[in-house]
Amino acid sequence: MPGAHRLLLVFADGVGLGAMEERNPFVSVPTPALRALLGAPLVAERATARTSGEPPVALAALDAVLGVAGLPQSGTGQTTLFTGVNAQAALGRHVPALPGPRLRALISEHGLLARLVADGRAVTFANAYGAAYAERLRSGEGRPSATSWTVAAAGLPFRTLEDLARGEALPWDVTGESFALRAGIDVPVATAEVAGERLARLAGAHDFTLYETFLTDVAGHARWGVTPEMAVRRLDGLLAGLLAARAPDLTVLLTSDHGNLEEPWHRRHTTNPVPLLAVGPAAAAFAGLTRLDEVAPRARAVLGGEVDAAAPS
Ligand SMILES: [Zn+2]
Repeated sequence: MPGAHRLLLVFADGVGLGAMEERNPFVSVPTPALRALLGAPLVAERATARTSGEPPVALAALDAVLGVAGLPQSGTGQTTLFTGVNAQAALGRHVPALPGPRLRALISEHGLLARLVADGRAVTFANAYGAAYAERLRSGEGRPSATSWTVAAAGLPFRTLEDLARGEALPWDVTGESFALRAGIDVPVATAEVAGERLARLAGAHDFTLYETFLTDVAGHARWGVTPEMAVRRLDGLLAGLLAARAPDLTVLLTSDHGNLEEPWHRRHTTNPVPLLAVGPAAAAFAGLTRLDEVAPRARAVLGGEVDAAAPS
């Protein structure tokens, strides 16, 4: 039945499912929240088509390469995730970072957030932006990410630093520390757990909430002074706060566009599958997915009451 579920999609750029080995930071860095959910680190070996626990938890391994030669990249990967269209196959290659006209056209036509808005869902984007970035978006200058295009195509507002100060938005780096350093501005800083509680509150007031962190991809590329340990700890802390404050009807989804952080011994993306972690009453509806382009249509179907979220389909 429509309205029975809420979804929160935590999109963490550059997180693949690596092997159970010490040099994988998801194995070497303490991740109490992930381990409590999975009974294991976030690794490929843990993925299964079944759910377990209460609330139900599922970990699917999604193919992010999708039949296209080369290493998966953010421009096409995010477009695929947020449209349900295999963008890398449509373009015949993996496109990095910022989408050009063809990817933007795909997002305009198939963007998940715009579809959900048209379906009558209450949709929000949790990220906070500084005034300069918001102005560039408004004026059409610069080239926003696929995520930003997806938000803009749905006509949704971008939250501001004032929202962040009120605890009604999150910075891209979870805590605000890297955001402040990078932007050279004063940004309120909160622990990852508090950020997670704030995200749970936003998600509890909407049918679909999107939050994006690219801290994980930055760490995988060894940029901006962000280490793999920082990224993994903040992601786990975010989940801890989020799950502690999760409303009973909220299903939390964590996924990515391509692998990177799980192999910090090199600085390239990987062809590893990406995780689709689902926690909450609709988890089973996501348990059997195997491809990145299946997430958006399944999310829409769950919110529309078109799939039995209590059983894999
Ligand atoms: Zn990257």
